[in-house]
Amino acid sequence: MKRETICIQSGWKPTKGEPRVLPIYQSTTFKYDTSEQMGRLFDLEDSGYFYTRLQNPTNDAVAQKICELEGGVAAMLTSSGQAANYYAVFNICEAGDHLVMSSTVYGGTFNLLTCTMKKMGISCTVVDPDASEEELNAAFRPNTKCVVAETIANPALVVLDIEKFARVAHAHEVPLIIDNTFATPINCRPFEFGADIVTHSTTKYMDGHAMCVGGAIVDSGNFDWSKYPDKFPGLCTPDESYHGIVYTEKFGKGAYITKATSQLMRDLGSIQSPMNAFLLNVGLETLHLRMPCHCANAQKVAEFLEAHEKVAWVNYPGLKSNKYYELAQKYMPKGSCGVISFGLKGGREAASNMMDKLQLAAIVTHVADARTCVLHPASHTHRQMNDEQLVEAGVAPDLIRLSVGIENVEDIIADLAQAIEKA
Ligand code: PLP
Repeated sequence: MKRETICIQSGWKPTKGEPRVLPIYQSTTFKYDTSEQMGRLFDLEDSGYFYTRLQNPTNDAVAQKICELEGGVAAMLTSSGQAANYYAVFNICEAGDHLVMSSTVYGGTFNLLTCTMKKMGISCTVVDPDASEEELNAAFRPNTKCVVAETIANPALVVLDIEKFARVAHAHEVPLIIDNTFATPINCRPFEFGADIVTHSTTKYMDGHAMCVGGAIVDSGNFDWSKYPDKFPGLCTPDESYHGIVYTEKFGKGAYITKATSQLMRDLGSIQSPMNAFLLNVGLETLHLRMPCHCANAQKVAEFLEAHEKVAWVNYPGLKSNKYYELAQKYMPKGSCGVISFGLKGGREAASNMMDKLQLAAIVTHVADARTCVLHPASHTHRQMNDEQLVEAGVAPDLIRLSVGIENVEDIIADLAQAIEKA
């Protein structure tokens, strides 16, 4: 099926007499008739539900839809995008291991992988996404277990050369994990370019209405863990915490997601609530309609800003002048995303003044939903830093992050125009 049809039809497939709309299985637990039936579930001999911390039918239907959208073999929902990235890495890394990460990933991911996971004994080498293959090769060590990057970085809007990263990761016999939050599978399917695992903050475009924090992990099924048993013992040798199961032997291409569910979800418990999964599914049903509108609106807004005399610079991969225009055309020919960053000639002060004058665009700590919104990192998320520290962190003091919504684009531009005039 085409992506538009998957958005609408996949996941929940009711049969005779069942509800047309995905039901919310608002239940912590599931009933069985015999002790034997329940026992087989715990041995992973039968598939079925027993406790919502591990799996829930509402969640699984939505995960299946995201799986098909990405063209993967298995998927799971998590309580947040942070949990998705954490599980995606922790499923194959343990104390003593190392990973390679693009420097421009979302700040939360950067912190998770360089600080918090360091405390768990997992080290990280940060690489420039524009580095040559030779430079990237130098970042790998014998204990490297994966490479992490974003299709379109938040908020730097760096477009990743996914094929380059996949080649380098595979040359070192490790998987490439791509956070595809900003592009969504409507605009880019990283598996088609060699990525092995995809993660999402479903909080963003997938939900699309700023209703629920959530995440997802999808496995392409293409990385052959069993070829490298010494590198990935968690997948290829007996799991003593699960009756000695060897995930690759028992579940084949489903090994990675089964392990993340039956081990990490069991022990760490960052499950998405069925209610949130239901709302996420409603969002997904219009993802294919919203993404082209976000991109078309953002393109017009970026062109307006680029032509404005008071605007110092604009960063949007859809602009021909943009450093990443060619890469965006290659990986996302239908459009990249709705997020733009720009600076005003009046600098930091003008940015702040301009935002106070906005009437339609709202100041919120969020991106990628139906409503246009803005954030000035130097005044908000990064306000403890001075200008020098901001530049080091890759956030220009005058950077305004604008998430273009799906309102009428003339209204969005008119709002920006009057605010910039008064700044
Ligand atoms: N990945 C990206 C690209 C993000 O932009 C975000 C949040 O902004 C996250 C992950 C974290 O997601 P969440 O806020 O759902 O935990």
